[in-house]
Amino acid sequence: MRHIEMTCKNHPNLFWSCKSIAVSKHGRYNGARHIFYNGERSDDSYKYVPECSCPGVDLIWTEEGRKAWRADRAADLRYDRARNRAIPKTI
Ligand SMILES: [Zn+2]
Repeated sequence: MRHIEMTCKNHPNLFWSCKSIAVSKHGRYNGARHIFYNGERSDDSYKYVPECSCPGVDLIWTEEGRKAWRADRAADLRYDRARNRAIPKTI
């Protein structure tokens, strides 16, 4: 499970993060876990600016968030395949 960087489609200077399970395959926040507000990006960090009041449905993944989500999904698929092979066959 990775943290996915999200932004607001109306305020692309603001950033949030949440676990990958809380992001749909279409890059939208689905409410499955908490989301954390980070603020505005400043160099390699974030600086606090007031959060916008847009609804959660306006939050979308950033390009970095999209890549992390896809990598996380690929890792889950590898894990599932490995786990399936580990299940002993019964006759
Ligand atoms: Zn907004």
